[in-house]
Amino acid sequence: MRRWLGDRLGRLGALERRRAVDPGAIPVPPPRPLPELPAATSRDSLDRLRHARGQGLPDVVRLRAGAVPAFPDAVVRPADAAEVEGVLAACAAAGVRVVPRGGGTSVTGGVNVLAGPAPAIALDLGALSGLVRLDAESGLAAFGAGTLGPRLEADLGRHGLTLGHFPQSWEFSTVGGWAATRSSGQESLGCGSIADLVAGLELVAPGGRLSLPAMPASAAGPDLRALVLGSEGRLGVITELTVRVRRRPVARRAEGWLVPSWDAGVAVVRELVAGGAPLGMIRLSSPEETETAMAVGLRGRLWGPLARGWLRLRGARPGACLLLAGATGAPGDRPEAPREALAAAGAAARRRGAVALGARPGRRWLADRFRHPYLRDALLDLGVATDTLETAAPWSALARLEAAVRGALAAAAAGEGEEVAVLCHLSHPYRDGASLYFTLFFRCPADAEEAVARWARLKRAATAALVGAGGTLSHHHGVGSWHAPWYPREAGEAGVRLLAAAARELDPAGVLNPHVLLDPADRLER
Ligand SMILES: Cc1cc2nc3c(=O)[nH]c(=O)nc-3n(C[C@H](O)[C@H](O)[C@H](O)COP(=O)(O)OP(=O)(O)OC[C@H]3O[C@@H](n4cnc5c(N)ncnc54)[C@H](O)[C@@H]3O)c2cc1C
Repeated sequence: MRRWLGDRLGRLGALERRRAVDPGAIPVPPPRPLPELPAATSRDSLDRLRHARGQGLPDVVRLRAGAVPAFPDAVVRPADAAEVEGVLAACAAAGVRVVPRGGGTSVTGGVNVLAGPAPAIALDLGALSGLVRLDAESGLAAFGAGTLGPRLEADLGRHGLTLGHFPQSWEFSTVGGWAATRSSGQESLGCGSIADLVAGLELVAPGGRLSLPAMPASAAGPDLRALVLGSEGRLGVITELTVRVRRRPVARRAEGWLVPSWDAGVAVVRELVAGGAPLGMIRLSSPEETETAMAVGLRGRLWGPLARGWLRLRGARPGACLLLAGATGAPGDRPEAPREALAAAGAAARRRGAVALGARPGRRWLADRFRHPYLRDALLDLGVATDTLETAAPWSALARLEAAVRGALAAAAAGEGEEVAVLCHLSHPYRDGASLYFTLFFRCPADAEEAVARWARLKRAATAALVGAGGTLSHHHGVGSWHAPWYPREAGEAGVRLLAAAARELDPAGVLNPHVLLDPADRLER
């Protein structure tokens, strides 16, 4: 990986190995006074440090350098919805800012505590955890909002059930956080996004409670669930969710192909989705992402050159793109169903000139799918920063969008005499379009403020290009505080006023996550 990056970014050899500072050595200022809060309240410095930021690149850079600009004055852990209500009432009365926090994996500045005159608490929802009720006949399960992905699947697994929602952050994110950010899991093609999976919910806010029962469908007025999904803690705290569950798959299989070009791959994906192929996941990597997967996966291995030669012999050419598809089989399905679904996908790919790679790349993807993000820390040790950007757009806009983002990133990097390596894949396909997901790598200045400033310049350029070329501001990461300045462009001025009015109604004192979603200030460097 280092060699691959050195070829693209240059001058990596000269960089020293960098280490993160010891968290215990980071100075944390004394907490400011708070009113009496009716829930477990911690003022421990390390606890406050751990709840100061999310997991975006600038968060990690600042934490590693010990350059954290602000801390919550306390970490508050309510045990139930009544305690959430009591804490919110006390904070609203005293003007204390409240940052609801699930797993803290936000990559949009959504859980960051920002400097400000009003005290702030991190409302850690981790104690609202576990299965609350199960209606197995209807396939409905109610969970505490702070339930982490592994706990949720373990609780369902005991009943032979699954939610099937697997964002890459699954290990550390919560069902409440997924709903608050309208998250999508890697198998969204088969299961839908969290918006499709949430049937009912409970929201507690200083201005009142919303108790929205689970219904299979309803025409009783506008869908208030949809108002809460994606509200990012701005309208209230989700305390409980009822989700649609299904039988746990007994087989999960993924296979790979090399398609001759990006356009050919897009045509295969469109054909499969339009035909309703029974797949759980499809992912098409750009030529650069394909090349990286090969470089990291094959380089140095004895069979690497052999594998490359074999692929060349079978017709794989430069510019080829890796296509992965996955399928699952539930109990009662015919055991060969996933294999047959993948065989049909393979036939569609071969009609467009693809070379079959078999089950190995799929197995590798399944084994590593939650592990890749850990690479970020190892790369930062070597002085390389990596971040991701994502969007979705209609099929007709995707090619223009991909080129616009790539061009904007290259121009922004060139503006400071740097290079940027950009990988892209298409995933989460729909009948009318798909999501594009970009991974970028750039040389990370040793100074944390300079590093954040470089990231912010690249992020601004890419986001402007992405929305300018017809993409949504976010397909699944959400708005947070970092994307908020662009949000009015997508929601429209009247849309923002409508949402702000809902926030005023539920949170008249404006204490809930005041910097996310509706605050137009540019906070990329805060
Ligand atoms: C390595 C990595 C990979 C990722 N991959 C994916 C992916 O594949 N798909 C995807 O969708 N996202 C992904 N994300 C983004 C992130 O994991 C999601 O946004 C996730 O839904 C956040 O869940 P969380 O519990 O960590 O929420 P947090 O980060 O704690 O909070 C996110 C936002 O929701 C609010 N919030 C949290 N819980 C509640 C609640 N109970 N009530 C009200 N508001 C609340 C917070 O105030 C904040 O604004 C990834 C992040 C990382 C770091």
